[in-house]
Amino acid sequence: MKKIFPEDQSLVLIVDDEQFIRLQLRLALEREGYQIAEAQSGREAINLCNQLHPQIVLLDAIMPDMDGFECCTLLQSLEYSQYTPVLMITGLDDQESVDRAFEVGAIDFVTKPIHWPVLRQRVRRLIQQAQIQRQLEAANRELQRLVTIDGLTQVANRRRFEEYFTQEWQRMARDQMPISLILCDVDFFKFFNDTYGHQAGDRCLQQVANTIKNTFKRPADLVSRYGGEEFAIILPKTDTEGAILLAETVCSVIRKLAIPHSTSQVSPYVTISIGVSTTIPQPGSDLQKMIAMADQALYQAKSEGRDRVKFMPLDQ
Ligand code: GH3
Ligand code: MG
Ligand code: MG
Repeated sequence: MKKIFPEDQSLVLIVDDEQFIRLQLRLALEREGYQIAEAQSGREAINLCNQLHPQIVLLDAIMPDMDGFECCTLLQSLEYSQYTPVLMITGLDDQESVDRAFEVGAIDFVTKPIHWPVLRQRVRRLIQQAQIQRQLEAANRELQRLVTIDGLTQVANRRRFEEYFTQEWQRMARDQMPISLILCDVDFFKFFNDTYGHQAGDRCLQQVANTIKNTFKRPADLVSRYGGEEFAIILPKTDTEGAILLAETVCSVIRKLAIPHSTSQVSPYVTISIGVSTTIPQPGSDLQKMIAMADQALYQAKSEGRDRVKFMPLDQ
């Protein structure tokens, strides 16, 4: 678990055109243990933000050339600093500046002349909040990854398969483009487990998944673990010929891995059987039928001797 509270080493960027104010701010904040960087103009502030990635920016509203409002707007548009909190420093009774500060995305403000205990608390709180926000976002990204990935093989899980298939099915129906589905099933895998043990079985599945994944290069292709020793690959914008060619390639690269399988009845090595189906989805049509067709093709591949590819057109 990372620390939630800010390191004393957080970097504060002070932006003010008046040297005396910068010095005052620097002394006050250094006393709190922060690292300090200074900019005397909006432009310099943008450069320093890009280089140093400060944890917070203290920004004077009124400066010549680029004022604090314009600078703040620009900072929000930068990739890294769009989440960096900006604390605007405005004149005491300047209602308009305060309104504008929030409009351009400043997270809070302090007024000049600076009330030091207030500044101290705000800086501390804003750095903490930004840090918690970043951790939450990272945790969310990780959660998103975990709910769509199969733990053992690190390819997409069944849930992701269904979500993606539905999405691509609808997209292909709209564009009237073909979509192909490849179903792979490891041959005599029960015997493999019985012979080499469940852990060796797990390692075999990882190797098979990894090899299948490396065979599909297009970003739109999705390799997923469909069931225990079954993998499904969704190929948007791929016609019958393309899908069969890829399926043959997968079949052959798995064979060439040459993972020993002494109790397989078709080969001394691990092999897979594959069912392929392709269609141009019609609006409102059911994708379950396509899965059933690929499954039938797979069944055929099994019954005709395994370690082979069979194709089943949908519209028969
Ligand atoms: P076929 O050639 O007809 O496909 O025969 P098979 O033995 O591969 O088919 P079956 O469906 O009878 O057996 C599948 C086996 O896959 C049984 C099950 O224990 C194993 N299996 C399923 N998931 C896992 C897993 O995560 N790890 C391991 N080690 N084995 C698994
Ligand atoms: Mg199976
Ligand atoms: Mg099997």
